[in-house]
Amino acid sequence: MTERSCEVVVVGGGGAGLAAAITAAELGRKVILLEKADALGGSTALSIGSVTAAGTPDQKAAGVDDSPAEHLADFPAWAGALAHRDNLDLARLLADNAAAALAWLRASGLEFYGPLPEPPHRKPRMHNVLPNSRAFVYHLSRRARRAGVEVVLNSKAQKLLLDDSSVIGVETAQERLLSRSVVLAGGDFSASAAFRSEYAAPEFHGLQAVNVHAEGDCQRMAREVGGVILNGDLAFGDPRYRFRAPARSPWWLGLPPVRPITTLMRFALRRVPAPVIRPFILSFLTTALAPETNLFDKGALLVNGNGDLFRREGESLGFAIARQPERQAYALLDAQAMEAFSRWPNYVSTAPGVAYAYIDDYRRTRPDICALADTVDEVARLRGLIPEKLRASLAGREAKPPYLLLGPIHSYVVLADGGLAVSRKMEVLDRGGKPIGGLYAAGSTGQGGLLLRGHGHHLAWAFVSGRIAGENAASAAAA
Ligand SMILES: Cc1cc2nc3c(=O)[nH]c(=O)nc-3n(C[C@H](O)[C@H](O)[C@H](O)COP(=O)(O)OP(=O)(O)OC[C@H]3O[C@@H](n4cnc5c(N)ncnc54)[C@H](O)[C@@H]3O)c2cc1C
Repeated sequence: MTERSCEVVVVGGGGAGLAAAITAAELGRKVILLEKADALGGSTALSIGSVTAAGTPDQKAAGVDDSPAEHLADFPAWAGALAHRDNLDLARLLADNAAAALAWLRASGLEFYGPLPEPPHRKPRMHNVLPNSRAFVYHLSRRARRAGVEVVLNSKAQKLLLDDSSVIGVETAQERLLSRSVVLAGGDFSASAAFRSEYAAPEFHGLQAVNVHAEGDCQRMAREVGGVILNGDLAFGDPRYRFRAPARSPWWLGLPPVRPITTLMRFALRRVPAPVIRPFILSFLTTALAPETNLFDKGALLVNGNGDLFRREGESLGFAIARQPERQAYALLDAQAMEAFSRWPNYVSTAPGVAYAYIDDYRRTRPDICALADTVDEVARLRGLIPEKLRASLAGREAKPPYLLLGPIHSYVVLADGGLAVSRKMEVLDRGGKPIGGLYAAGSTGQGGLLLRGHGHHLAWAFVSGRIAGENAASAAAA
């Protein structure tokens, strides 16, 4: 095994790790970033790409008078009955620094569309990356290279190196990297069998994770040196259900997400009539979108691959879908439900670029998951459901043609919220609340008990905490 040294090692090349590595390198430190996959990105590159922030120039331009204090005041509404479990100290850090993180992303070459509303936020705060979340990796990996960060792919950190009680580096299968500071930014533990059996209900154990690399290596390594996971019992919530990601890849997806293209998209989103521009923007879709629960509360029926209704009163949709044949289901909409989900506030899902996708968006851009017909039997046959069963599912309801089957919808573990306890400097804290020397955490790994409900808070946290971790790891390395 070889041994070498640097000033800061960052473990994980998603949004938080890239932000930390760039920040530390731009402060003059020699930084090595380890990524266990064969490409940078993690969940950040699989995400929808919404970033929630208050006090942004986009809000100002749209006449929205907002502030970090107002943003923070909306956190309890998101957390609901769990508000007492949220880490309001870190929530304040997030609200106070989210607009600066967005500005930093823009300075890295990224472009956003917004602000868009998302109740219970009382002001529109959602900013969506253009054209999709791959743009984060494209621009941040370039900025990292310019700053001199050494990126090592296919390199999995396995163990933290300790001297007394301080961390002095990281060991991978190939090498020992000695450093003054280590930033853990390995994402969440949604794909980890060990963390699932520690924290999740047994129904989770067989479910697929969206990001197979999210194995909680960093949480495990930090625990071995005294770190603590907060809100692990809340980490899994319910499994999320999603449409499958689009299989086809139009040629323009290969275009780099550079300013002339994203600025044009932004301009077009504001000026070009929606029926023309929305299909184009949505054709940049690369991720699996999630239908909102609202869809099933307000008219759509959830049926399984046979056409049977299966939802039990009070049962989580994610678990219910996971129990069905092939762990999949369909949403059945009649004319009235289709009409209801054709405009705000009833959207089918959030979506890259346009923020919210409605029925027409799906019909135009995802024909592979939309089957439309004038009769129940016909729509059933289009997707291989049993017509008699689908008819029986509709019995006693006043359903009007045409009928739309949206799906299949699959059940996944999208993310897990159990992160390490951290200080406002992103130092990893031990059980007694004392910083572990040389060790920092960011993003999902350093979520510190934050609940991050709603869309856009996870990415905002990845970039905010990544920059703070990078700055403090750099200062500690220089001391
Ligand atoms: C489908 C989907 C959609 C989402 N949409 C949104 C959204 O629109 N808005 C929002 O705010 N949030 C969204 N999220 C959540 C958000 O994407 C994540 O919370 C966020 O990207 C986490 O960033 P991160 O840098 O902490 O982790 P990641 O982006 O997952 O990066 C962690 C990286 O660390 C690497 N790694 C792990 N262990 C090791 C190791 N031992 N050694 C080396 N490398 C390692 C991983 O391979 C990975 O590349 C979404 C998540 C998913 C899955």
